[in-house]
Amino acid sequence: MTKPTTRRKTKTKNLRENHLIKQIHNLNNVLTDNPQRMEGGLNRLFTILRYGRPSYSTIIESFKRWLLAQMPDNAYEDDYGNLIATVGNDPRVMFSAHHDTVHKMPGKQSLLYDETLDEIYTDNGSCLGADNGAGIWLLLELMDAGVEGLYIIHADEEVGCIGSRYIANRTPSLVDGIDIAIAFDRKGTDSIITYQSGMRTASNAFADSLSAQLNMSHQADPTGSFTDTNEYEHLIAECTNVSVGFSRAHTKLEALDLSYVVELCERLKQVDWDMISVVRDPTQDEDLRLFNDYGIGFDYTNAEIDELEAAVRQNPRSAARILAEAGVDSYEVARGNVYDDGWDYMFNRL
Ligand SMILES: [Zn+2]
Repeated sequence: MTKPTTRRKTKTKNLRENHLIKQIHNLNNVLTDNPQRMEGGLNRLFTILRYGRPSYSTIIESFKRWLLAQMPDNAYEDDYGNLIATVGNDPRVMFSAHHDTVHKMPGKQSLLYDETLDEIYTDNGSCLGADNGAGIWLLLELMDAGVEGLYIIHADEEVGCIGSRYIANRTPSLVDGIDIAIAFDRKGTDSIITYQSGMRTASNAFADSLSAQLNMSHQADPTGSFTDTNEYEHLIAECTNVSVGFSRAHTKLEALDLSYVVELCERLKQVDWDMISVVRDPTQDEDLRLFNDYGIGFDYTNAEIDELEAAVRQNPRSAARILAEAGVDSYEVARGNVYDDGWDYMFNRL
């Protein structure tokens, strides 16, 4: 469960970066042997979070130019707008993030830092965009550290994983030789996702072995909705999504747990990927149970969903009215799941 939301009662201050960096250096658990480098890395995180980048907005073009300059020399943009780079000769692991956010308006925003909760957030009525700025930052840091991998910063995840679907359908040979795909696009601080949209995309053996290597108390988590790695589940054996420390994503209350994401970054650099279990067969579907976002099995079958879909097609207006009464909005229908972070927040307040 996320931390209690006590922000409104705590004293907050404008994020002056020198102040924040000093705070970080005081946290023993995130100290590195190279504070100078870490300082540069955090400045880069703040740069990423300062820009709202809705899907299809023009600001994404200049953001992609900036990102490419941060990536290795072999980095390129594919025909859809995904940014791709390789570290090492024959990588087995794909690291995945996405460069669009759910901001309503593109443009610059100022960041705030809550000392008590050690969280970055905004108060401008918009989301923070740590979904998926935190994931992008992790990929940049791992590339800089020389961690072998195929790195993809996908386009248009928030409007239905369109960039990743483009690669899976049009240029699948890009992932030849990859048997692990890790998105850093999950809320919270303890999930290694094993199911996306009710389908198994990573084995428990994989999740347990990655958790053991990270040594940060992550758990195999079957409650994933979906992200880019889901698009590769028929091509790549282990497709997961790992918590990057944001909470209440897609809402104006979104926040990023700073010490968590910094510690995760340092631990990821130490992982011995040859020790990670790879057992799932990507050509087999395991669709035994459907889960909702709380891990509760749904009591419906795919055949019942098909029947319901046919009824919705015949009566779209009444279906829309029923959804509206249930508090479901058009964005959630397009995305295929209901904002669970918003619910977490409401429950925490009760
Ligand atoms: Zn995301």
